[in-house]
Amino acid sequence: MALREILRWPDPRLSQPCAPVERITPRHRKLAADMLDTMYAAPGRGLAAPQVGVMERLFVMDVTWKEGTRAPGVFINPRITWADEETSLVGEGCLSIPGVTAEVERPVAIRLAWRDLDGAAHEELLTGAAARCAQHEADHLDGLVHFDRISAEQRAVLEGAYT
Ligand code: ZN
Repeated sequence: MALREILRWPDPRLSQPCAPVERITPRHRKLAADMLDTMYAAPGRGLAAPQVGVMERLFVMDVTWKEGTRAPGVFINPRITWADEETSLVGEGCLSIPGVTAEVERPVAIRLAWRDLDGAAHEELLTGAAARCAQHEADHLDGLVHFDRISAEQRAVLEGAYT
């Protein structure tokens, strides 16, 4: 088990877009394993590579483990190929912005396309917590955090309280 340091906002790396993974290598397997260990230890449900200072398009997610069933997923070069018109407003936390919950409006369902660690292509409909978490993590790969998805007024209040 190897834990990596989670960068804290406003580290500038959290505001930079990440590069696509061109070729999946053993380094990515190690990265994904370390990220899952780090996510479970934090504890959290999702973690994106830039949050551990690796500027590549990869995130890990497990939205069910806190309820007792581990289902770790590794998502390489994820793309949202469809988003529901219906949205919901849900409070989101972020391991890089500890102690802050931001109410973010997002589509309630998406289709996500990605590659796994073996390079196999997947595309699935995600709903509920999985849809929400995947959108949050995909945002990290574009250099966005939940602060970037809320109003300037709400952001000012939350940033003011954040230490
Ligand atoms: Zn986050």
